[in-house]
Amino acid sequence: MVALELDGVRKEYGATTALHEVSLSVDEGEFFTLVGPSGCGKTTTLRLVAGLETPTDGVVRFDGEDVSSTPTEDRNVGVVFQNYALFPHMTVRENVAYGLKFDDPPTGMTVDERVSELLAMMNLGEMGDRDPDNLSGGQQQRVALARALAPEPDVLLLDEPMSALDARLREQLRRSVKRVQKELNVTTLYVTHDQEEALAVSDRVAVMNGGRVEQVGTPQDIYRRPETEFVATFVGDNNVFSGAVLDATDEKTVVRVADTSFELPPTDADVGETVQFCVRPEHLSAATMTEAPTETAGETATVPKTNRLTATVETTEFLGDVTRLHCRWAGRSVVVRVAAVPERDRLELGFDPGVATFL
Ligand code: ATP
Repeated sequence: MVALELDGVRKEYGATTALHEVSLSVDEGEFFTLVGPSGCGKTTTLRLVAGLETPTDGVVRFDGEDVSSTPTEDRNVGVVFQNYALFPHMTVRENVAYGLKFDDPPTGMTVDERVSELLAMMNLGEMGDRDPDNLSGGQQQRVALARALAPEPDVLLLDEPMSALDARLREQLRRSVKRVQKELNVTTLYVTHDQEEALAVSDRVAVMNGGRVEQVGTPQDIYRRPETEFVATFVGDNNVFSGAVLDATDEKTVVRVADTSFELPPTDADVGETVQFCVRPEHLSAATMTEAPTETAGETATVPKTNRLTATVETTEFLGDVTRLHCRWAGRSVVVRVAAVPERDRLELGFDPGVATFL
């Protein structure tokens, strides 16, 4: 188990800069995830930690020691990629044992005992004699994970290990990965483009965009306190508004968007400045307007008195536990999550000042 650090790491491929000055630190035993859209530099970062690439500039450290030019085989890392890459002519047991070919099993254990332990841990106890071809995609990834973990790596590197699986298998496997990671307390760097997966499995998350880290934090921080428009919109649905500050006191900030004044928490912006803020869809309360929109006509739910907007529903997506509405307000799109499907397409929306976050 080691702590990882990237310090001012830059990576160029010819004229392409894949990473600009990336600095990150991952604690011992932490489950740390890199999330971001395709091409943002996640895999490059993981390959630099694996020793499959060397930085153009900057330093990679394991427990404070510069390993930037240390070859992969001397780094004690376990790597699992998207494509299972199991040896088809070897059984499951032989595949896992292969992970111990260059490293001894933990002290006091034979290779056979270690393989059995890993197979049991990954719920593959019955599968040892099978060929990989006779396993499902999810089982094959469990074998790949068992093989990577067999020699007790200091660092586990997982690059989109679940992206080839269907949604149900992905959820099952991510629970197993999280359980095993905690059981072994192995420092883990996980790469995914799936923000929901990142929030579900990680101790901390780094959101990447265009070769840079936009924000690092716990899943709750990233979701509740996004610091940039990119993070606010990449992680979960979000409504980002932009407007000029009309009034700013110690108690509140008043911001004008379109022809509506919104009362928001205090911030350090000055009057006249343009600011951005976001409101999560689940923080907007909605009431159907059953009649012509008068003051409080037809309200069925409690909508906060402040920060009102009358919106038109454009599309309705029933998601089971909630319904997501894509609405139109003042030429902008606004997303709302509500418990019940509204009967009309005109909604009165509102939110409490405290739920808005400045970007
Ligand atoms: P994806 O989710 O699609 O795998 P990613 O976030 O992992 O994307 P990277 O694969 O790290 O992104 O790529 C970052 C940038 O570096 C991209 O613009 C990519 O085209 C470029 N790049 C990556 N590897 C190479 C290479 N070997 N040669 C040239 N350019 C590369």
